[in-house]
Amino acid sequence: MTLTVRQFPCLSDNYGFLARDEASGLVACIDTPDAEAIKRELAAAGWDLHLILNTHWHPDHAGGNEALKAATGCTVVGPAEVSRIAAPDRVVVHGDVVMLGETRFDVIDTGGHTLGHVTFHDAADSIAFVGDTLFALGCGRLFEGDAQQMWASLQRIAQLPEDTTVYCAHEYTASNARFALSVDDSEPLKTRAEAIFAARERGEPTVPTTIALELATNPFLRAPILRPDIADPAEAFGAVRAAKDGFKG
Ligand code: ZN
Ligand code: FE
Repeated sequence: MTLTVRQFPCLSDNYGFLARDEASGLVACIDTPDAEAIKRELAAAGWDLHLILNTHWHPDHAGGNEALKAATGCTVVGPAEVSRIAAPDRVVVHGDVVMLGETRFDVIDTGGHTLGHVTFHDAADSIAFVGDTLFALGCGRLFEGDAQQMWASLQRIAQLPEDTTVYCAHEYTASNARFALSVDDSEPLKTRAEAIFAARERGEPTVPTTIALELATNPFLRAPILRPDIADPAEAFGAVRAAKDGFKG
């Protein structure tokens, strides 16, 4: 049970991910922001695509499905909402299991950014592909769901083991850090923000992150601490999310 992940930039600020189950040699692509970029990465690695795992229906996540399926004959797996782009071969819901060779992905409901958004968790390798739910120092916008739903989804991710490697789908971290510093002046955040700005100066990615790092510094997970004036954690989260939506940093 070893999963090798290749991460590469796609479009303006997305990341593409290829994941190879070393036991079988089978390869999955998590979301399909750019079919051409994904085909180039497959060729560079010398890998054949077997499976697409979609986190949600947005075009920068499922827009390459059809071209990749036509080119490789791969199977498309995702939540029902992906049918807005093209019907997946297999629809998954919370609690389902998707196998890639010997690697097991548990499907976790992480609706909120879109209603049907899911996360794929490989517990044996401590890896989670969280799409646009949790970002490094950020979280997805509430395009379809409400604060209650998103807070519950973020808690499902936050409850994964702290050493879990978290692959987020966008490089939004520097702008997330500017917002985070506007609502939180804790030392761990300041230290992390400095490291993030330096990494971005050097053109380095800030993804993946870990659950431990996000629990310590992510202002959305820390919303109940940052907003002690709001008793309900989901409402505290909603207030921080609304502040970010209006933030001009
Ligand atoms: Zn999205
Ligand atoms: Fe996205």
